Amino acid sequence: MPMIPYGRQNINHADIDAVVDVLQSNFLTQGPVVPAFEKAVSIYCRSQHGVAVNSATSALHIACIALGVGKGDIVWTTPITFVASANCALYCGATVDFVDIDPRTYNLSVERLAEKLVMAEKRGTLPKVVIPVHLCGQSCDMARILMLGQKYGFKIIEDTSHAIGGRYKGEPIGNGSYSDITVFSFHPVKIITTGEGGMALTNDELLAKRMRLLRSHGITSTAEDMHPRPPEELWNYQQIDLGFNYRMTDIHAALGLSQMQRLDEFVIKRHAIAKRYDQMLSGLPVVTPWQHPDSYSSYHLYVIRLKLDQINRTHRQVYEALREAGILVNLHYIPVYRQPYYEKMGFIAGYNPEAERYYSEALSVPMYPGLTEEQQEQVVAKLTETISL
Ligand SMILES: *Cc1c(COP(=O)(O)O)cnc(C)c1O
Repeated sequence: MPMIPYGRQNINHADIDAVVDVLQSNFLTQGPVVPAFEKAVSIYCRSQHGVAVNSATSALHIACIALGVGKGDIVWTTPITFVASANCALYCGATVDFVDIDPRTYNLSVERLAEKLVMAEKRGTLPKVVIPVHLCGQSCDMARILMLGQKYGFKIIEDTSHAIGGRYKGEPIGNGSYSDITVFSFHPVKIITTGEGGMALTNDELLAKRMRLLRSHGITSTAEDMHPRPPEELWNYQQIDLGFNYRMTDIHAALGLSQMQRLDEFVIKRHAIAKRYDQMLSGLPVVTPWQHPDSYSSYHLYVIRLKLDQINRTHRQVYEALREAGILVNLHYIPVYRQPYYEKMGFIAGYNPEAERYYSEALSVPMYPGLTEEQQEQVVAKLTETISL
C-alpha cells in the first residue's frame, strides 16, 4: 500500500541541475551560492541581512547568543512547538518557561503572555527573550507581542520555521518589523528545502555580523575586526569569539536558491489543498484550522482537532487507524515541557491547560504541494470511516 506522508519535499529538474552545477564548480562550501541564497531570501522577506546556517536549530542557537542570552537569563516560548524552539535557550545556560496557547490559532497567547509578564515583573523574573512560533505557518499576533516587548524590555526571536512565504498584515513574514531576529528552517517537510538548513534574518547589522562570526568558529579574516599584533607576525585570521561550525554548504544553498523560485507556487498550492480540506471536512466532528484576518498562512501544516465527545474512538485510536491505512498523520506537537527531559526540570502535566487540551485532540493530516486530489480524498474517506465507527 502506498504511504501518504504528512509532509514531503517537492524537487524538480531545475533543483537537481542547480545542485549538480555546484558539484562541478570550484566551491562546495564557502563559495558564492550561500550569499546568493541569503540575498534571495532577504529580498523576498524584505529584510536587511540573511545568515544561512546548517539548520534552524543552529540559527536559533546563534540568535540567542547574539542577543546576549546566557546563564541566569530566562527565555519564554510556546509549549506547542518543536523542542528546538526551547532547547536553544538551554544551550546558552539560560532557563526556559512556557506561555500557554491561544485556543483558536494555537499560537502563543498574547493574553497569557501579558498576565505572565505582570507576575514576572513582581517577582523579578522577566524574560530576556521571547520566542513566538508561527505554528502551521500562521503568524502570531506580533504587533501586540512587540508592544509588550517594548514595555517589559525583552527581545524577540520569531521562530518562523513553518512560515516562509506567509504574510502578516500584508507584509512578508521574516521582514523583522516586529522582532530582532527571525529564523527559518529548510528541512524537507518545511515549505522550501535545502535538505538540512536554516537561516536567520535581521535588520540589525551588528546582530548579523555576530551571527556570521558564530556560525564559523568565531573566526574573522577582516583586518578591522582583528586584534593588534606585532607587524612582523603573520595573522591571516583570528578567533575573536567562541563559535561553531554551523555553516551551510553551497550544495545545500543551490537547492534552496532554486526552491525560492517556486516558493509562491508552493504556498498557493497549499492554500488550494487547505480550502479543499475545509470543505470536505465541514460535516465531520473535527475543528478545521481557524485563520486570523491579519494572516496569510504558508500552510506548512493542516491540523485538525477531533471533537472527542462526538467520536467513539480515542485520539490514539484514530491516529493508529490512519497510520495503519498508510496515511501518516502526525502530532504537532506534544507540549515541550511534557518531554521527559523537561519534566526533570520540574515541569508537570497540567502546566499549560490550553496546550494540553490541544495536544489531546490534534492531528496533522497530509499537506504538501505534491498531494493529489485523489490522495486527499483517500485521507478524508479513511478519516470519515474511522471516526464514524
Ligand atoms: C523544524 C523546526 C525547527 C528545527 O528546524 P531544523 O532546521 O530541523 O533544525 C525549529 N522550530 C520549529 C517550529 C520547527 O518546526
